[in-house]
Amino acid sequence: MSKPIRRAGVIGAGVMGSGIAAHFANAGVEVVLLDIVPPNLSDAEKTNPAARNRFAAGGLEKALKARPAAFFHPSNALLVTTGNVEDDIGKLAGCDLVIEAIIEQIGPKRALFETLEKVLPADAIVASNTSGLRIADMIEGRSKGFRERFLVMHFFNPVRYMKLLELVVGKETSKETVERVRHFGEDVLGKGLVWGKDTPNFVGNRIGTHAMLATIHQMLADDLTPEDVDAITGTPMGHPKSASFRTADLVGVDTFVHVAANCYESLTADEEREVFKIPDYIKAMFEKKLLGDKTKGGFYRKSKASGGGKDGIETLDPKTLEYRAKAGDPSVRETTKAIAKIEDPKARIQKLAADTGKAGQFAWKVVSRSLAYAARRIPEIAESVEAVDDAMRWGYNWELGPFETWDALGFVQTTERMQKDGLRLPDSILKMKASGATSFYKGDEVFSLVTGKYEKRTIDPRNATFEILRRGEKPVLTNDGAEAWDLGDGVLGVTFKTKANSIDPDVIQMLHDATARAEKDFRALVVSNTGEHFCVGANLFLVVMAASQKQWDDITRLVKGYQDATQRLKYASVPVVVAPYGYTFGGGLELCFAGDAVQAAAETYSGLVEVGVGLIPGGAGTLNMLWRALEAIPEGVQANTSEYVTQVFKNIALAKVATSAEEGKHIGYFRRTDGVSFDRARQVTEAKARAIGLASAGYHAPAPRAHVLPGESGVATLSMMVDTLVAGGYASEHDALIARKLAAVLCGGASGAAHAVTEQEVLDLEREAFVSLCGEAKSQERMQYMLMNNKPLRN
Ligand code: NAD
Repeated sequence: MSKPIRRAGVIGAGVMGSGIAAHFANAGVEVVLLDIVPPNLSDAEKTNPAARNRFAAGGLEKALKARPAAFFHPSNALLVTTGNVEDDIGKLAGCDLVIEAIIEQIGPKRALFETLEKVLPADAIVASNTSGLRIADMIEGRSKGFRERFLVMHFFNPVRYMKLLELVVGKETSKETVERVRHFGEDVLGKGLVWGKDTPNFVGNRIGTHAMLATIHQMLADDLTPEDVDAITGTPMGHPKSASFRTADLVGVDTFVHVAANCYESLTADEEREVFKIPDYIKAMFEKKLLGDKTKGGFYRKSKASGGGKDGIETLDPKTLEYRAKAGDPSVRETTKAIAKIEDPKARIQKLAADTGKAGQFAWKVVSRSLAYAARRIPEIAESVEAVDDAMRWGYNWELGPFETWDALGFVQTTERMQKDGLRLPDSILKMKASGATSFYKGDEVFSLVTGKYEKRTIDPRNATFEILRRGEKPVLTNDGAEAWDLGDGVLGVTFKTKANSIDPDVIQMLHDATARAEKDFRALVVSNTGEHFCVGANLFLVVMAASQKQWDDITRLVKGYQDATQRLKYASVPVVVAPYGYTFGGGLELCFAGDAVQAAAETYSGLVEVGVGLIPGGAGTLNMLWRALEAIPEGVQANTSEYVTQVFKNIALAKVATSAEEGKHIGYFRRTDGVSFDRARQVTEAKARAIGLASAGYHAPAPRAHVLPGESGVATLSMMVDTLVAGGYASEHDALIARKLAAVLCGGASGAAHAVTEQEVLDLEREAFVSLCGEAKSQERMQYMLMNNKPLRN
């Protein structure tokens, strides 16, 4: 085992430094965050530590306020101490790693490294977050030992959310340094690593900036509008919805200009150097400080000055540099709208490239140019096509990297079309075609443009997906809504097949059947889904239909079925591990409560949001949320459960959503001991490992508990709280009705204080409340609204 990184220094508390510090703290690493002493301090301020540390403290403050949040939970910030490079440099002495994210200039960086060499222990790693400065230049004058412990760690903004971490080693970087940083980046921070070369802007920004600028030049040449371009280069191309110009506004036009300028200046031998030349109109934007969202205006702005479109967004006209109402070619809009609806990104890009209209022609020109450019960059910027694809997926959120796109379009036919168009292709591609290869990726092999043959892909077994883990030709159990597969090592894995992983009678049946089967033939059960979100709750359509036909018995059966399924899982004789990620709402979270343990992706957004559709959690969620809150109360403590009940009541009544797995733990949706997978790619393997761990450590089903609850007086107190909200106009009568029913369940009914209330008693109250709310016209209205609009009705 190489020496772990437990304590880190981050120098420069700007956009990147504060984001890096926050994410290190998210991973439990102690951080010393330093910045310069602000210039121009008054004489009094010069001796005031708070004034001297203002920049670093301000950076931390910004990270705490950042939206989307930089910290998983504000308490992670307790791991960060701030200071300045003049007074506090000594604090770095205990650090295992120091990374700088200061101004992108060689002078200050060199000076900083000289200082660091004097104060750091002999085994501390030093990294730069530079976007493109040469390693050799940065470490000039440093000792051999320093050079061996130096490398580039290039994070992407926002650090918490972007999976890509580009690592670039120098000629002398030691193997041990590489191994320590690999472990830290991959296993501790959960990042996807791409090993770049010491070339300007490394991999992601080199290909991404080229693609962006090639797109802009083509737009100007073809006389298209920015709206046309964004319609084509977003979802239809397999790129984020924000496409080209919305993304640039989010990132900042200044950052984009700097990166492009750096490319242009340093890539003197690049055959497409001219592409990196920023068009005059963007230079003018930069000078006029039209920098995007941070200046309230960039390629687009929110304003109705020009009459505006429906969304109140105006576009900067590249020719006049004036904002105008949104426009765009109707044919482009129509074509791209239809293509965007196709689910599979490969089918989408195929359709787009085959389109003979304006949209397709434009798309082909920019995509083919970008693909050819990427191919010519190997091995200059990276050794493998996988590295380039990974960089674009993880750093730019493209659904397919350039070579995956090439495969989707058909390697041979695309290469021939490029040749026909006169695009310059490297010899490696021509040789690949001559060898008879028909795609870059083939099963578990990938074509190497360096060796000219297929090579085995190195897939980390920890990244095995559900599909890779499953054994046998057929699932152990299957129905229309879900399947259960043998995941090996005695673990049975349930996975949903319903639309958006919603819970329906088939899923419920599978949970019952899989539990029974696991108890018989396996030693543990894992629930692990695929798709964008883990589960957004019950299939509302079924509830609405039954409610509109007053089929109360059907609804009761459905709810009871889910209550029984979650309780069955909770008391199964084998351990159950649930693996939520993305949206985990309502019934999805109720399923997590049923597990002995959860292995959540770090980015899990969870909450009991049933009130949004006029209901309360009915799949044992109201019970289990409360029981979890009470489980830490030791026997014998005469705890006043009202405080616990009130907080659970508020979380459900306000549909409180946790925006990270860590926050979910703080709120009580998950347990402190639950696992968090920083890299979602490892989640299934880690969930399986957790299940095996429980199974092999003498697992026994938990014993039920009963609790004395607040009863009638609790209901009265909570009702008063609700009345105040209604009187103040903060809640409607309908909200109040739901809240009172919720209060009654959580307080154990009128007699809840008179005896220890059992789980079954609460379950019965919960079910009755749920079914009675289904009968409310206003609740039905909310459910219907949600079905139609995919968002809750506010009333
Ligand atoms: P920034 O301007 O937001 O922050 C730089 C911070 O460094 C400021 O707080 C400044 O006061 C401080 N600083 C300047 N000189 C210093 C010194 N000598 N000692 C200590 N602190 C000093 O810049 P940023 O966008 O965070 O970029 C920082 C670095 O990260 C640059 O090298 C940049 O190229 C790189 N980078 C930026 C991005 C991005 O998207 N912004 C992405 C990856 C890498």
